[in-house]
Amino acid sequence: MDESKKTFLRNLPKIDEIILLLEKQDIYSLAPRDIVIATCRTVVQNLRDKIIEAKEKDLPKFSLDLASAVGKVERLIKGLYRYSLRRVVNATGVILHTNLGRAPLCPEALQRIMEVGKGYSNLEFDLAKGERGQRYDHVSQLICALTGSEDALIVNNNAAAILLVLNTLAEKKEAIVSRGELIEIGGEFRIPEIMKKSASKLREVGTTNRTRIGDYEKAVNDKTGLIMKVHTSNFRIVGFTEEADIVSLVALGKSRGIPVMDDLGSGCLIDLEQYGLQHEPTVREALATGIDVVTFSGDKLLGGPQAGIIVGKKDVLAKIKKNPLNRALRIDKFTLAALEATLMHYLNPADAVKKLRSLKALTEPVAAVKKRAEKLITKLQKENFVSLKFSLHEDFAAAGGGSLPTQQIPTVLVAIKNKKMSASKMEEKLRKMEVPVIVRVDKDEILIDMRTVAEDEFRFIIEGLRQV
Ligand SMILES: *Cc1c(COP(=O)(O)O)cnc(C)c1O
Repeated sequence: MDESKKTFLRNLPKIDEIILLLEKQDIYSLAPRDIVIATCRTVVQNLRDKIIEAKEKDLPKFSLDLASAVGKVERLIKGLYRYSLRRVVNATGVILHTNLGRAPLCPEALQRIMEVGKGYSNLEFDLAKGERGQRYDHVSQLICALTGSEDALIVNNNAAAILLVLNTLAEKKEAIVSRGELIEIGGEFRIPEIMKKSASKLREVGTTNRTRIGDYEKAVNDKTGLIMKVHTSNFRIVGFTEEADIVSLVALGKSRGIPVMDDLGSGCLIDLEQYGLQHEPTVREALATGIDVVTFSGDKLLGGPQAGIIVGKKDVLAKIKKNPLNRALRIDKFTLAALEATLMHYLNPADAVKKLRSLKALTEPVAAVKKRAEKLITKLQKENFVSLKFSLHEDFAAAGGGSLPTQQIPTVLVAIKNKKMSASKMEEKLRKMEVPVIVRVDKDEILIDMRTVAEDEFRFIIEGLRQV
């Protein structure tokens, strides 16, 4: 190492001196001593690392003075008070946006979380009998009523539900799956890999585009534990295709004494066709085939909290409930409270479509979306933004969350052009707001998709544009 670098390193601010200055500024009102010391060490260590890596000519850029180090420590400690997980405005037009938290919760669900979380609850206490109860019991009657299931079990998410079912029914056995259904859902979740972790052996049948019932029949043997069907939620194979329908798979399972499962993914509880959308198999339809187990998510088309819901035959669910893994994957009380409130809306399906925000966004007539867009433009024009130009565009929104991948949902965009700033810079500024507004960028405009923006979020967009 050359001399000038060594000099720089020798002159790094001293931890003791930084702390002395911070103490004068009453730092301990913000954090205890051990956190302050650790933060000082991090700041000095980072500076040291950067100097060691730096090129000779860049050395003068580094500030070694005490005040600058003190400032850095202070900023880091104050940063600990800033919520990292925050609300955002989803102006992307992707309704169940996995990166933006999928389904927003309905007011009733939030109310129930407050009520149940604030104090004690009968989470695992049977009030009628005065003895220990099961947490699932709070929602299983509702789920059974809404889907025609015999019983229900809820876990942390659908990935957990699949793991649990596979492990219970096919541990050290084979699970038969069509090649065309060995899917990957975002976030590392792949059917073959989850199967490995469940200690069941994947038995692939058919081909990518065509799998017949005969392929399953040939694969069945005395090591078969499960026949599994997986909804190809986030993609479609079109053209020369064939798949075995659930009815024939159920018949095959019955004749050979093998349970049959369907991973539905989305968990649709209502007929979406009546709103002009593609048909999405409902949980009730899947169960009506006489299938043993169906799994689905709580926060996709269902529009509730993150959860994995397992429904089906009572005897099969009893086995699944007894699996020790169930305890490790179990649902928490907040989710249960929110799920119960969400499900209740489905007792009146027309109500569910109005009260659950994701369903509302999915089914709202485009005329209503347009009206909201016009309202936003009127509001924006009142602001007299001199360098901004607004226009309306027609386009398509998407369901997201691995649901209805080929469904184009007509929508209206508010496009904003800034004479003094590039669209990507505008996008970044809006993203870094206290309440971030997440938009799409197209060439020199930012696009605000009004299908996923509610009227009470206009103020965040207006505030964001003021700062832009
Ligand atoms: C989304 C999805 C999953 C994973 O569900 P999570 O609730 O995200 O864990 C599994 N299978 C299918 C078919 C899906 O669409």
